[in-house]
Amino acid sequence: MSDDVLRVRTPIGVDYGWTAGPRSTAYLQGLIDGKLLGKRCPTCTKVYFPPRNGTCPMCGVLLGDDDVEVGPAGTVTTFCVVNVPFLGQKIVPPYVAATILLDGADIGVQHLILGIDADKVRMGMRVEAVWKDSSQWGPTLENIDHFQPTGEPDVEFTDYAGQL
Ligand SMILES: [Zn+2]
Repeated sequence: MSDDVLRVRTPIGVDYGWTAGPRSTAYLQGLIDGKLLGKRCPTCTKVYFPPRNGTCPMCGVLLGDDDVEVGPAGTVTTFCVVNVPFLGQKIVPPYVAATILLDGADIGVQHLILGIDADKVRMGMRVEAVWKDSSQWGPTLENIDHFQPTGEPDVEFTDYAGQL
């Protein structure tokens, strides 16, 4: 039997400030107001949600000023079934983490899919946002508790293949 220390648990934290910039600020303010706001590239017309750094990575130009409301429904483009428990996990496995292409957006967002057995989730499935109570909203996509199936017919692969 060894006396070697195999594990040490040490709480740590890092506080930092971040300047969002005008386009990300609009996105974050939209979340506070219960809106999903993206920005459109004036060159290729793609809608970015979130607008990330405020420029189109394809064209290298500044995204437009106008807000483009997307969602709250969308299409599952890819997903994974989480089967492995880990420290701090809030949901009992199995559950699904998915990339969801919100209606009107050209890039997907990551979120949970609940309200359906994990083995029934599929690419092309239509889902909608389930928001937390507005008293819990802040500048975060966590205002949406999860996405759930809409019951609409699945989207054909060719309709979202370009957004994978
Ligand atoms: Zn562009």
